Amino acid sequence: MRTISWPDGHKYAATISFDFDAEEVWIGENPANAQKPGVLSQGAYGARVGVPLILKLLQKHGVTATFFVCGRDAERHPDAVRAIVAAGHELAHHGYTHTNPTELSPEAEREELVRGLEVLRGLGGEISGYRSPSWELTAHTLDLLTANGFTYSSNRLDDIFPYELPGTELVELPVSWILDDAPHFWFANDTWEKTIRSPREVLDVWLPEIDGIAQLGGHVMITAHPMLIGRPSRLAMLDQVITHLLETGAWICTAAEAAAEVPR
Ligand code: ZN
Repeated sequence: MRTISWPDGHKYAATISFDFDAEEVWIGENPANAQKPGVLSQGAYGARVGVPLILKLLQKHGVTATFFVCGRDAERHPDAVRAIVAAGHELAHHGYTHTNPTELSPEAEREELVRGLEVLRGLGGEISGYRSPSWELTAHTLDLLTANGFTYSSNRLDDIFPYELPGTELVELPVSWILDDAPHFWFANDTWEKTIRSPREVLDVWLPEIDGIAQLGGHVMITAHPMLIGRPSRLAMLDQVITHLLETGAWICTAAEAAAEVPR
């Protein structure tokens, strides 16, 4: 079992991360969606309405977060991305298109990484982290990240502490499905299979998990999507989650800040 001494005597750490998926996630799911303005508008909601409301909520609590952004979404919504940077939050890489790297050739994977970096840096971001659009990596990904100056990956589901990836200089900041909003709130109207959960129900899942990680002194990684969590009822839930984190002694930090605490 790992342990980490968090700064200023905090008993555990928490990163509030957002995957800024916007239109690209729908196109990645099905290229035919590029011709469906209704489908795409679900993603646009995140950039147009979700992000400004999220920034207001984060400002209210005085906390900073990490936004993983697709390059093509950043090109579509540069003002939303600039607002994230201007508010002092961390920008990180989430692909150029929202394509699972395991479906790309090694050359295409390299191009995606470099192009996404150029776009995000062009909007003022200092990029050190990578979360793939599928939480999946190829045999080349870690070498590509190292070669392009990244310091951390946030893709694996194998711990509640960040840790150094063996044989690399990179830190892994593990994620989990339980603290991701997508399995609870993602509704796709092409299958009608997914249920829209109540915020109360999701709070009942999230708060005990947060308390469990706190007991172990670990790192809470919340993964939310502006198009999902950015609905008013769910923002009220996120408000309660942040209040709970602060009241229970979490060190709320960006992903890059958490990665820097891993003993090397
Ligand atoms: Zn995504």
